Amino acid sequence: RLARLRARLVKSNNVFGRSLLALLSSDQIDEDVWDEIEETLLMADLGTEPTMELVDRLRERVKVEGSRDPDRVRALLREELTTLVDPSLDRSLNVRAAGRPAVVLVVGVNGVGKTTTVGKLARVLVAEDKDVLLGAADTFRAAAAEQLTTWGSRVGVPTVSRDEGTDPASVAYDAVAAGIEGEVDVVMVDTAGRLQNKANLMDELGKVKRVIEKQSEVDEVLLVLDATTGQNGLNQAKVFSEVVDVSGIVLTKLDGTARGGIVVAIQRQLGVPVKLVGLGEGPDDLAPFDAETFVDALLE
Ligand code: GDP
Repeated sequence: RLARLRARLVKSNNVFGRSLLALLSSDQIDEDVWDEIEETLLMADLGTEPTMELVDRLRERVKVEGSRDPDRVRALLREELTTLVDPSLDRSLNVRAAGRPAVVLVVGVNGVGKTTTVGKLARVLVAEDKDVLLGAADTFRAAAAEQLTTWGSRVGVPTVSRDEGTDPASVAYDAVAAGIEGEVDVVMVDTAGRLQNKANLMDELGKVKRVIEKQSEVDEVLLVLDATTGQNGLNQAKVFSEVVDVSGIVLTKLDGTARGGIVVAIQRQLGVPVKLVGLGEGPDDLAPFDAETFVDALLE
């Protein structure tokens, strides 16, 4: 799985990696080169502060070591990037609960890949021999519930859905109730994400969570973000984290972007680890996030 993650990431990030490594291989790493390094990191969506910090530390270390050996400079860059991505964060999914189903709430703006992620994650959990049940709490579009049900049958798990326009909280409640009744291991609830109306979204998501909590704890709140949306995605993330306690990020569409630096920016700004990454539209295109594999792929 990690090998595949690496291969996919290399494919999408090599523009970034190649230009960085080319820069670091210059005979003379002068002021212009450092500027270009900074620009490259900014273009990869690493964020202003982390970029400045990284470049400052790298410059300092290059100066202290007095080494211009490109291999050494590369090794230093790898170290500094890895520190920024933070390998010490706990990225495991909280999907084990004693005596009841674990409840995973999946939130995010429409179009980021929420439903697809629920489907892919269900497949991963089924492969781990878990009984999974899906709840289609996006009741604003009939198509959303249909799409989730299709994913459910594709990976062989039941989906609780109700008519379009039903109160999302009641669907979430019914899904968790069905999960408890059926003694499943994990209930995953897909939600709507119309950010156009922030007050409504707050009310709705807050209510979904409260209603679930009448029967069970919510073990994991996964916020799905589209890696190609850059700073805009970060702003969305902030809105969601004000409404629900986000416990993990799923970063989708990392296969289509050289802006992997967004991982660092997200973790910094939200204080929440990236736990999973989406690497394509297919059922197997979801991988656990691993800091070292990720940085290696960035620098390939
Ligand atoms: P939702 O509205 O947030 O539920 O988004 P969907 O799950 O319907 O996904 C929106 C589109 O993004 C669909 O065409 C998906 O196939 C696509 N998509 C989802 N995840 C990924 C990913 O990791 N990579 C790519 N390339 N496309 C993705």
